[in-house]
Amino acid sequence: MAAIDGLPPLREVIARHGLSARKSLGQNFLLDLNLTAKIARVAGDLSNSDVLEVGPGPGGLTRGLLAEGARRVLAVEKDDRCLPALAEIAAAYPGRLEVMNADALSIDPLAHLTPPIRVVANLPYNVGTELLVRWLTPPVWPPVWSSLTLMFQKEVAERIVARPGSKAYGRLAILAQWRCEAKIVLTLPPEAFTPPPKIHSAVVHLTALPEPRYPADPAVLSRVVAAAFNQRRKMLRASLRGVAPDIEARLAAAGIDPTARAEDISLEGFCALARAVSGR
Ligand code: SAM
Repeated sequence: MAAIDGLPPLREVIARHGLSARKSLGQNFLLDLNLTAKIARVAGDLSNSDVLEVGPGPGGLTRGLLAEGARRVLAVEKDDRCLPALAEIAAAYPGRLEVMNADALSIDPLAHLTPPIRVVANLPYNVGTELLVRWLTPPVWPPVWSSLTLMFQKEVAERIVARPGSKAYGRLAILAQWRCEAKIVLTLPPEAFTPPPKIHSAVVHLTALPEPRYPADPAVLSRVVAAAFNQRRKMLRASLRGVAPDIEARLAAAGIDPTARAEDISLEGFCALARAVSGR
């Protein structure tokens, strides 16, 4: 039976094009078009945005995005075996889907789109984390894009939305929450994917804020946070010794107890410390 968009069911597409899942490409496919439409809906109103989808695979999420009204989708896929299946989707939605056969880590796909841009992806987890960090670092950070809706390993999703005082709180939480509102919007069991991965997954939705929450130089903030959490069990006066020789004075200037540990410091505190380290 044809699916709601008139295209064949994904199992049939996968069988016809011989798209056996490859572990090396992190291929765990979503075959339920109701689920992919739901992910597209949590991404927000797509009718006024260009959408970047990284890793479309056989196109389940791509079909969800187009069915939910995306103005234009640019889908960047590394595996050329998926191209014929994606070409069939492009033909069903004339002028709305462009497919690029490339490694998303070696190009800047955002350069091919017109703002406002929303990014949606179900990617291998390592690639997703690396792209997230890039999209939170100048020059491709907000306002270049307006939202990111990304599937992660549940444990990584929890690190992105974590609050101070928790074990999950660290560099990812600070980078993400400094520039965005970050929320877990969906959690998925392994059986939602074909083949099922070993772990649970979660979709994180990040909405870009018009301005960073607190002023700080991005490079200095990133250096301070990396040093503080690299030795997260140490007191800050020890873990940050390499950041500035007079770190105790800088901590005091930022109103931070030098015997505190990284996970006790709020985002606001880290931004104050980054300003004190930059001498601002
Ligand atoms: N979006 C599809 C879905 O939800 O069913 C496929 C998801 S599967 C987890 C990840 C997809 O990302 C695969 O199609 C894989 O080939 C692709 N991929 C892996 N690494 C990539 C990279 N560096 N750049 C672009 N695509 C990549």
